[in-house]
Amino acid sequence: MEQLVKELKEQEVGKVLSNEPLANHTTMKIGGPADVLVEPKSLEKLQETMKIINSHNVKWTAIGRGSNLLVSDLGIEGVVIKLGAGMDHMELKGSEVHVGGGYSLIKLVTIISKKGLSNLEFAAGIPGTVGGAVYMNAGAHGSDMSKVLKKAHILFEDGKMEWLTAEQLKFSYRTSILQKERPGICLEAVLNVGEGNREEIVALLQKNKDYRRDTQPFNYPCAGSIFRNPLPNYAGQLIEKAGLKGYKIGGAKVSDMHANFIVNDGGAKAQDVLDLIEFIKKTVLEENGVQLETEVEIIGRK
Ligand SMILES: Cc1cc2nc3c(=O)[nH]c(=O)nc-3n(C[C@H](O)[C@H](O)[C@H](O)COP(=O)(O)OP(=O)(O)OC[C@H]3O[C@@H](n4cnc5c(N)ncnc54)[C@H](O)[C@@H]3O)c2cc1C
Repeated sequence: MEQLVKELKEQEVGKVLSNEPLANHTTMKIGGPADVLVEPKSLEKLQETMKIINSHNVKWTAIGRGSNLLVSDLGIEGVVIKLGAGMDHMELKGSEVHVGGGYSLIKLVTIISKKGLSNLEFAAGIPGTVGGAVYMNAGAHGSDMSKVLKKAHILFEDGKMEWLTAEQLKFSYRTSILQKERPGICLEAVLNVGEGNREEIVALLQKNKDYRRDTQPFNYPCAGSIFRNPLPNYAGQLIEKAGLKGYKIGGAKVSDMHANFIVNDGGAKAQDVLDLIEFIKKTVLEENGVQLETEVEIIGRK
């Protein structure tokens, strides 16, 4: 790992940190150290980073804002590539917005909506990056990325880059081809935005933000919905029905506000959250016969 770090630094790929705690890079404020964390300062430097990683045959993991991640207390093996500043360009071209994988979704929605352009209002308050949103097919209020994405530029493990259409990304509920079938890093997305009434768009944005403020524990460290909704059921309703609101293991607690959120109530370990997830799954299965599946990505050393 020392030689790899030396090469990354020599090539001036961007920020390079050894043994960097992921708790500093996740919205849950949980997670042990990455062997190495790199924040590339440009697309070229990201490609260079990938080349060096491949030449050392080391594992890599891409992250954005860490808003859908539960990282092991033992940390992450290999290199964590964080897409943020350096991968956050944005340009409006007619009815398309071309935006870097590291761009903040909240910032994008705010800027686009204030220009009187529609389609992205659903994403108000989703605290990830554009790349993370493509990977997850992030969505809310009856819409998701699949409905607005024209194409995405993906860097694959072998260093090749390809533009994939929404159809090729095989989006479904909180799922894309990038998750299992074809792992790769979303470098850029082209989104369709439509002309609309500025006042109506801004009002809808505010309504969606207010809804979140009133129903979600935004002032606690968390990772959004822990479980996928087992449609037509809602995970939150099943957990609440099982009487688990407020249930706590260590520092991890089922939110009093929204039962599908687990909050870090102070000093929570990843293991506390994992134990709570297992307890919720077992209880909901026993009481409702529904097998819950996690939406939050659980990563790192076991
Ligand atoms: C308060 C709160 C509310 C939320 N509300 C919603 C909601 O309404 N709807 C919703 O869908 N989600 C919601 N989320 C979850 C989360 O914000 C989304 O899943 C978001 O899309 C994750 O983006 P990220 O950049 O934080 O990704 P991360 O959490 O950093 O990573 C998540 C996954 O995406 C992968 N990934 C990240 N960046 C890239 C990239 N550039 N290319 C390829 N893969 C990448 C990672 O490898 C990882 O597997 C919420 C989270 C919080 C904390």
